[in-house]
Amino acid sequence: MLALLICLAVLLLALGWYMWSSTPAYFLSISLVAICLAAGGFTFACLAIKCDKCGLKWFWRAVSTQHSREWGLWLANLTECPGCGDIEQSTGE
Ligand SMILES: [Zn+2]
Repeated sequence: MLALLICLAVLLLALGWYMWSSTPAYFLSISLVAICLAAGGFTFACLAIKCDKCGLKWFWRAVSTQHSREWGLWLANLTECPGCGDIEQSTGE
């Protein structure tokens, strides 16, 4: 128990030292990189997840037409294209 408390204290001290020694510009640049990565990932998903037959962008369709709590399930449960009805071909690998 004592070892756990010591480890926790050392961890908190290291975290405090890290946050104290870092400059606001460092946090700003890390935040900007994270925002750019998230936006790039979202854009890639919107453009890349689509129907092979008709080109309907499924990810964008899910995000733009479904409720924010349901779009993930809607996309995961997709068995055929809502645009052309093409049945999803699973490789089974
Ligand atoms: Zn389609």
